[in-house]
Amino acid sequence: MSDKSQLLSQLKKELLELTHMGSSLAILEWDRQVNMPPGGSSARAQTLAYLAGLWHRKLTSPELFELAGDLMIEMNQGRLTSKEACIVRETWRDLEKARKLPVDFVEELVKTTSEANDVWAEAKKTSDFKKFQPYLEKIVELKRKEASFLGFTRSPYDALLDGYESGMTSDDISIVFQELKDFLIPFIQKIGNSKAQINPEVIKGNFPIHEQEKFTKLVAERIGYDFRTGRLDISSHPFSTSFHPTDARITTRYDEHDLFYSLGSVIHEAGHAMYEQGLLAEHFGTPLAESRSLGIHESQSRVWENLIGKSRPFWKYFYPQLQKAFPKPFLKLSFEDFYQAINYVTPSFVRTEADEVTYNLHVILRFEIEKELIEGSIEVADLPQIWNGKIKEYFGLEVPNDRLGVLQDTHWSDGSFGYFPTYTLGNLYSAQYYDAAKRNIPKLEKELARGEFKLFRDWLRKHIHVHGKLYSADELVRKATGEPLTSKYWTDYIKKKYSEIYAL
Ligand code: MG
Repeated sequence: MSDKSQLLSQLKKELLELTHMGSSLAILEWDRQVNMPPGGSSARAQTLAYLAGLWHRKLTSPELFELAGDLMIEMNQGRLTSKEACIVRETWRDLEKARKLPVDFVEELVKTTSEANDVWAEAKKTSDFKKFQPYLEKIVELKRKEASFLGFTRSPYDALLDGYESGMTSDDISIVFQELKDFLIPFIQKIGNSKAQINPEVIKGNFPIHEQEKFTKLVAERIGYDFRTGRLDISSHPFSTSFHPTDARITTRYDEHDLFYSLGSVIHEAGHAMYEQGLLAEHFGTPLAESRSLGIHESQSRVWENLIGKSRPFWKYFYPQLQKAFPKPFLKLSFEDFYQAINYVTPSFVRTEADEVTYNLHVILRFEIEKELIEGSIEVADLPQIWNGKIKEYFGLEVPNDRLGVLQDTHWSDGSFGYFPTYTLGNLYSAQYYDAAKRNIPKLEKELARGEFKLFRDWLRKHIHVHGKLYSADELVRKATGEPLTSKYWTDYIKKKYSEIYAL
């Protein structure tokens, strides 16, 4: 074996061990949220912390750094194939990042955010921002410090954003988000002034949980979520997790009065999990079998949840089955009234309950605020006022309390600054991908209306899933759609769909 292939197989061996540790951690985390009795929480936290420590020690070991460094030389001298280079480049990136953060800093951040998360939950219950404020101030200070450890050129926010959407800067995002905002604010007002009579209550009813379980499972299976390599469980917040392409799981929560909560979340999480199931097992343990970024991941969930799951073709196929499974209230409800009700648009306070049109404005607002917080141009103490001002400006609503305002999301208490924009990036990518798929497969929507989802799933697999981290997010979207990321496809999609529904 040449020197190069020896180094490479050594690196793959090390990475595989790290991945095994990561999968074990993820299984414990899945178990914590799905099965664990409440009394087990503090013991589990210790087990998770111990394993995370082992994982971090291995990741930052001098041996691994030296090995990756030797391979970087091979790469820079052009002696690696593109796949080998992907493994080396992505590993180097992770190692460099991990090594920039001092151990005592990481420990302080973990300790602060885990305390802050509990305080935030309490503060949210009682709508008491003052209680959370000192903790958030501490977190913001630590995140600014983290940005300076990691390094940045323009904004410290970019250093944090890079942890979720590598290659993207806040300047890139600001441009796209401004375009979106310019479209959305007047468009939402137009919808509000429309004379269309849409009653969102017609899809409310009593939906026995076991019937919901049957129906959501049927839908997930039909769209291509493979239950031989997946499973569906219950947790308080829906999520998806994966330990290997042959074991990618999802969860949901059932509400007897709201079938569309479980259904929407199952389709969303199945979209995430199908991405994981579509990664190539032969590359397991390397970046070639890892998802590209959070934004790309979210595009996979959103495309199924919204562009497919709230579309006419999808429901042309599923509505008769829905009527059969839940004669009340659907048997006597016309398809049109049903379709309009599931696509009802209204300004609201809470992001996670927002419809697909208003959703992105919620994200834009958070991006604007967290960027300025990290850059130091606004202060934590002023957040409620700033938040409420933006809700008034964007939606015309008066926020009644901080529980429905600045305290609603867990992200900042976790220290997850830079995460929010990936939700909207996911939406934009999803529309751009869907449009490209329609161009590539002219009969696509006819197929969807016949309940045939394989063509579309295979398209996503071929253009996104199988590549892992081989390409950057930018290269990935250019290769699949012929263009860099643009807000145009999402905006066109929304304009067309909702102009029809609301007779604009
Ligand atoms: Mg998601």
